[in-house]
Amino acid sequence: MEKVDLEKLALNGGAPARSKPLPPNYPGAVVMGEEEAVHAGQIIRAQSPFRFYGPDVRNAVTTLESMMERDLNVPYALGVTSCTAALVVALKALGIGYGDKVIVPAVTFLATAGAVVSANAVPVFADVDESLNLDPADLERVMDEEVKAIIAVPILGVPCDMDPIMDFARKHGVPVIEDVAQSCGVQYKGRYAGAIGDVGVFSFQMNKIITAGEGGAVVTHSAELYERAARYHDQGLLRPQLKERHGLNPDEETAAFIGQNYRMSEITGAVLIEQWKKLDGIVATMRSHHRYLKQALADSVPGIRFRSSPDEEGDIGSNLGIILPSAEQAQTFMKAMQAENITAHTLYGNLPVYRVPQIFHQRTAEKDNFPFNYPFQKPVIYTEDMCPRAVDLLPRTVFVPLSPVLEQNDLDEIVSGITKVYRTLD
Ligand SMILES: *Cc1c(COP(=O)(O)O)cnc(C)c1O
Repeated sequence: MEKVDLEKLALNGGAPARSKPLPPNYPGAVVMGEEEAVHAGQIIRAQSPFRFYGPDVRNAVTTLESMMERDLNVPYALGVTSCTAALVVALKALGIGYGDKVIVPAVTFLATAGAVVSANAVPVFADVDESLNLDPADLERVMDEEVKAIIAVPILGVPCDMDPIMDFARKHGVPVIEDVAQSCGVQYKGRYAGAIGDVGVFSFQMNKIITAGEGGAVVTHSAELYERAARYHDQGLLRPQLKERHGLNPDEETAAFIGQNYRMSEITGAVLIEQWKKLDGIVATMRSHHRYLKQALADSVPGIRFRSSPDEEGDIGSNLGIILPSAEQAQTFMKAMQAENITAHTLYGNLPVYRVPQIFHQRTAEKDNFPFNYPFQKPVIYTEDMCPRAVDLLPRTVFVPLSPVLEQNDLDEIVSGITKVYRTLD
């Protein structure tokens, strides 16, 4: 019998560490099942897919909001259509608009910056640290009188360093929005991300931790922000159901303002109730896989460097982040890992979000590139290397996605694959 060479890279004809690719990393979607189907079916059979009226309204969205309020320990949650919508609603609740700047981290998905523009404000970009999240020490550099909010984004399951971010924001009297789209369930010093800043926004799109395909939510500690958010998401209305549930009694004649429609459907709400119930289990599983891998790799690969975290206890472990010494080695690593049947990728085509063409060139769908045409006292100019740590770290930080359905043998194969590939890097 031919001896299988476990040291030889699959790339060079050796036996791959795994015989087949890893399952896709859609943590919520891969645990979807009967529960979601039954609950969504109830809404359909009740012929009441709208939250505020119908023949037999089941109050699924309201139930989801109550569950989020209870578990995140916030008094107000509001279901919306997406996290992009949630960001716009949050910014509008805070009264941010034309003539305002908002600090956004250099590493995030396009939507964070796009929503700022959608709210008629302009993003300015702060650099990241080795957690790949907003570096609190870089806030001062981009702060000026025209900045009216800071958005912190825990990227791929690692919390932001919220204490210094909140300290800075409080010192300057600006609110903090937490964009928790990628990190539902992440904690920082025992508190849930999203419930630490002034407003938290969540995504339930397919690629996130739990999902109904699409969906989002806004949470806040402030009754005033909640009322403004609820109005903006629903044509400026504050429906009796929401007034009653939260004991609000405003004068419509003076309180109403023009809003949009970002309402969540009952079918989405029903699916998300079942997904929310599964969140703790998903996070516990990913977390334990992540810890196991870090420990095993620290033992088998001396000198391996992981993406840092300001609170490792709070990581949800949806991805394992490894920082390679150079961008070239990261490319070699990814190619070799692919051959071993282990997914490994860098983020966002290695580009800080401000390098995406439409943002870099400040191009919008509006006349005169509104809102970038505002005559700011300190002009907003983007340059390629304005956030050098993001430029340096993005192409050499490799992520291995860790689906909650992985089993022990999958984990051990990931360890052998990474160990084998890492040793061949020079
Ligand atoms: C995905 C994502 C969003 C947008 O979420 P949608 O629900 O798809 O609108 C916003 N911010 C971040 C950081 C994201 O990853």
